[in-house]
Amino acid sequence: MAILLATSLEDDELAQWAALLRAALPEETFVTDRAEGDPDRIDVAVISGPRRGALQGLPSLRFIQSTWAGVERLVNDPTIPAGVPLARMVDPAMSDAMAETALWAVLSLHRGYFDYADKQHAHQWAPHPQRRADEVSVAVLGLGQIGTTVAQRIAAQGYRVIGWSRRETRVPDVDTRHADAALPSVLAEADIVVNLLPLTPDTRGFFDKHRFAQMRTGASLVNLARGGHVVDADLLDALANRRLDRAVLDVFHVEPLPPAHAFWSHPKITVLPHVAASTDPRSAADIVAANVRRFREGREPLNLVDRSRGY
Ligand code: NDP
Repeated sequence: MAILLATSLEDDELAQWAALLRAALPEETFVTDRAEGDPDRIDVAVISGPRRGALQGLPSLRFIQSTWAGVERLVNDPTIPAGVPLARMVDPAMSDAMAETALWAVLSLHRGYFDYADKQHAHQWAPHPQRRADEVSVAVLGLGQIGTTVAQRIAAQGYRVIGWSRRETRVPDVDTRHADAALPSVLAEADIVVNLLPLTPDTRGFFDKHRFAQMRTGASLVNLARGGHVVDADLLDALANRRLDRAVLDVFHVEPLPPAHAFWSHPKITVLPHVAASTDPRSAADIVAANVRRFREGREPLNLVDRSRGY
């Protein structure tokens, strides 16, 4: 049998993945193009943003492993066989990278470093009063694989951290709350809201004018999850009427963010090019290999997506 690598990666990235996977699974046959071999022999697909239809017409396909953490496109793609188990990437290295980005954003918002960068351009020497970390409340929405690490790392810097998830969960040093009923209080108490929810039918358009109205006046939004969580026009309104102070955005409805988009030049928005936590093939290839081995041994692969939930 054979493993298909179905990706939208650049050639050099695909070559890196192929080399790492061949080294980790020397007994396996890999094809990077389904035309290379017999499609009937492909029983595993390792995918990184595959082109639409790439997994159609593979009668022996039994397991799909994505190298990405977010799966909203995959669960909404009718050309991906719904009955084949789909695993997503869960890599502690990715959670570490996300924690670095979240910490940079939280520290910069807390200490006013984004404002100082603006002031430097204007040649203005304008110190702010210095607040202590324990005077700043940070809400982390989504306490999954990544959100849990992020919440703990922010708490370790001395911030008051409130974590919010769908089901009840506990995270050391984090004030955890759950379900819709708790959300208004979470939003009202936070100076900084860090979004790490998955994009699902329940969370699409999550940050709209109603949610912004529930947030503390002068709070900031850090969106590191998906662009579809934010209603762009409502965010611009919330910044214009000073309901919100700032937004740090890594993800957008359309990526790359179109050159004419208002976010690029907004004085209160910091734009990152979807780099908060990239998959690192050096650690992720071993995780893929371990899950393929589980599948070959007849065991259930880890980190399977619940398609009915959407994450
Ligand atoms: P997980 O699936 O592990 O965690 C999801 C969390 O969100 C869980 O705590 C879940 O709660 C909670 N949740 C889901 N739906 C709801 C809801 N309706 N109400 C309240 N809580 C809800 O996700 P990850 O931690 O792996 O990823 C988090 C996000 O980060 C994703 O959007 C992903 O796409 C994004 N991401 C972004 C990257 C970037 O570079 N910008 C890189 C990697 C990931 P429960 O468990 O109780 O159901």
